[in-house]
Amino acid sequence: MAVYNPKSLKAEEFINDGEILDTLAYADANKNNVELIDRILEKARPRKVGNEIHCTGLSHREASVLLACEIPEKIEQMYQLANEIKLAFYGNRIVMFAPLYLSNYCVNSCVYCPYHHKNKHIARKKLTQEEVEREVIALQDMGHKRLAIETGEDPVNCPIEYVLECIHTIYSIKHKNGAIRRVNVNIAATTVENYRKLKEAGIGTYILFQETYHKQSYLELHPTGPKHDYDYHTEAMDRAMQGGIDDVGLGVLFGLEKYRYEFAGLLMHAEHLEAVHGVGPHTISVPRLKRADDINPEDFDNGISDDLFEKIIACIRIAVPYTGMIISTRESEEVRAKALKRGISQVSGASRTSVGGYTEMERPHDSEQFDVSDQRTLDEVVRWLMESGHIPSFCTACYREGRTGDRFMALCKNGQIQNCCHPNALMTLTEYLTDYASAETAALGHQMIQEELSKIPNDKVRAIATQHIEDIKNSNRRDFRF
Ligand code: SAM
Repeated sequence: MAVYNPKSLKAEEFINDGEILDTLAYADANKNNVELIDRILEKARPRKVGNEIHCTGLSHREASVLLACEIPEKIEQMYQLANEIKLAFYGNRIVMFAPLYLSNYCVNSCVYCPYHHKNKHIARKKLTQEEVEREVIALQDMGHKRLAIETGEDPVNCPIEYVLECIHTIYSIKHKNGAIRRVNVNIAATTVENYRKLKEAGIGTYILFQETYHKQSYLELHPTGPKHDYDYHTEAMDRAMQGGIDDVGLGVLFGLEKYRYEFAGLLMHAEHLEAVHGVGPHTISVPRLKRADDINPEDFDNGISDDLFEKIIACIRIAVPYTGMIISTRESEEVRAKALKRGISQVSGASRTSVGGYTEMERPHDSEQFDVSDQRTLDEVVRWLMESGHIPSFCTACYREGRTGDRFMALCKNGQIQNCCHPNALMTLTEYLTDYASAETAALGHQMIQEELSKIPNDKVRAIATQHIEDIKNSNRRDFRF
């Protein structure tokens, strides 16, 4: 039997079934232990150390106790703490992005995904470079600066060379004042060599959802194809880091397996990355299983309610305070509004999950990966965020200034975010408001920016940011950053 070892490079040792089961038993035994729960909450609280704000985070065991706890008063305290942690490290900024589907050819047979190769009623598509260009122009014209590219897995129809060519095309398109400045990549687990190629192509985060950490379920949910290999999939982030990618994004597809098992596995994965590579995941996504062509979520037994979903988000935020948290348009406006208060720092807007979807007037359904619940335009999402006190940020500066991996974490920890990310958010929001927003959104946004500028602590930074914002409004100069 495999023994738990967070430093091991073997999937079964760093995501160890025995350790997860022990963790769940420990959490059950302590879910009403108010004294322990209070101690865990106290440990997780942000602290000022000199000029810096520090958070210790929680182990998978401690966080699992919080997740198991059903005492309403304690859950309320978790929610407040999650929000406090988020404000300490991410402020009121919300980073914006959109997915771009390049190809839905797939040789796998994931039972929850409409791209599974036996599905004959979805249209199989792969964008040509001209089509990529048209999609990117459409995304730039909405105001997007950051994309996550998505593909099915098919070594013949969608080899790494195709993905690399698309990344090159995306970065090369400069339409009006637009630009895609950061391309994150969500493609199937691959080799160290291919990860190195992705790194050289200038990608931001490499994202790969584990789907489920439960090995037996994983094998059943991925009955054939390369994705069937649980160990290869689970060890992918280590290969990505060996290939030089230091920003990686984790996630599980909630609804496939029991959520407490997944939660413990997810945090063990984060602890493993920290133990081996010295830096935890850059982001954690929280996708939930959705209706799709050929897929009915009710066929799966482990769906989670909106309330539970909210609690999971809060517990992740408390456990890994420096990790960005992403919510997609799989979720409705209502769920996303609650999630923002519990720790989410990044949202997608105006997403189309079909190949070529951004250049169609009507939302196409024939190649869609899943139903999109939040169907608002980017302008509507941006306005909605501002109305609830958030600053929509189109910033990509950290990645472009080489502040990735532990260098980003250092910035996050030493409190310089208010002199760096905050002005960057305001400048990129000004770009959005000037170039793409409706009159109503622009008016609201410019007023918010004036108020927010006064909160920049450093006089010199405030003066420079104010000048750059005027330059953006009055000229075609763009892309200022700290
Ligand atoms: N093909 C790549 C891989 O194997 O990891 C990833 C790209 S796939 C387009 C992105 C993610 O969509 C998957 O990792 C899965 O978690 C999610 N997904 C698949 N089917 C879904 C469904 N029915 N509802 C919600 N999300 C789904």
